[in-house]
Amino acid sequence: MSITLEDSIIPKVLTGERITGPEALEIYRHAQPADLAALADARRNQAKARSYDGRGNEIVTYIIDRNINYTNVCNVYCKFCAFYRTERDADHYVLSREEIDRKLDELTAVGGIQILMQGGHHPKLGLDWYLDLLNHIREKYPHINIHAFSPPEFNHFAEVFKMPMREVIAKFKEAGLGSIPGGGGEILVDRVRNRIAPLKCDSDHWLEAMAIAHELGLKSSATMMFGHVETVEDRIEHLQRLRDQQDATGGFTAFICWTFQPDNTRLKANPVGTAEYLRMQALSRVFLDNFENVQSSWVTQGPKIGQVALKYGANDFGSVMMEENVVSKAGTSFRLNSEEIERLMNDAGYEPRRRDNWYRLKD
Ligand code: SF4
Repeated sequence: MSITLEDSIIPKVLTGERITGPEALEIYRHAQPADLAALADARRNQAKARSYDGRGNEIVTYIIDRNINYTNVCNVYCKFCAFYRTERDADHYVLSREEIDRKLDELTAVGGIQILMQGGHHPKLGLDWYLDLLNHIREKYPHINIHAFSPPEFNHFAEVFKMPMREVIAKFKEAGLGSIPGGGGEILVDRVRNRIAPLKCDSDHWLEAMAIAHELGLKSSATMMFGHVETVEDRIEHLQRLRDQQDATGGFTAFICWTFQPDNTRLKANPVGTAEYLRMQALSRVFLDNFENVQSSWVTQGPKIGQVALKYGANDFGSVMMEENVVSKAGTSFRLNSEEIERLMNDAGYEPRRRDNWYRLKD
């Protein structure tokens, strides 16, 4: 390995020891891409995120799910978002029960087992609207895991329903919520959040929602959206907060990062490219020593880079994602079906296997 780092950092990573924030910064600044990939790969082994089929082929997993964005009405107006509308916009919507059922029928027809359901922060939808929807999906589609909402949405619900967040999450779980996506994390540094999404919940409230969910037995994922106004130090602080939370409650199943997609948004920033994405994903894998799974983000980076990301710490290809409405509004619209995903994995030398939300293999 040709890394020119302080001598102690590399053995630390290779022997499974935890690294500090300043050490992560040192790696970010000085490691060559191939060396960073090797460190991320070592961490992937330590996380036991590597398994083999009976013929000795290395397994990479994916899930068949579908995004459902139940409404685009939102009063948070994040500067990086091209998806939201106000009730005054002609193309605002709230999906009807029939529209949601049709999407679930289509998902079922292709062997899907999960929905990733999120929406804008609609100021008028009440508690019963959500509970009825969750109950309905659970009863009519018991084979589908409802992976839904996000910490900012739960903070919003607590405010609109005038109810403690713990009670909201408990009621949602009772009605059928199965797990929670890590949406709205962006960068968990309030100085950054105030610049890109001043009306969204702050870092502490994001983490509080996750802590409550984990305590109530709901697993979740964690995310990072970078390449806008943040510094590298901010990204490392974000990772530190996730790692601390995982130490405390242990409920994160996976980490996913992606780069800011700028089209049709109000955020003035210089988006970063592919090399930076791979670098940060690998560094995240090295730093997040208590996360088992890292997903590559082909939805934002494209299938080829999604494939390369498997060499930079990722052990999972995310989801088929039959429908995607959010990053596509910001100018990025990659689509893959399960055959294409499996071919990409095979071409990269891996054995593709389907999984569920808890990373259990399906076949
Ligand atoms: S990112 Fe989410 S919370 Fe922010 S404006 Fe878009 S829909 Fe609303």
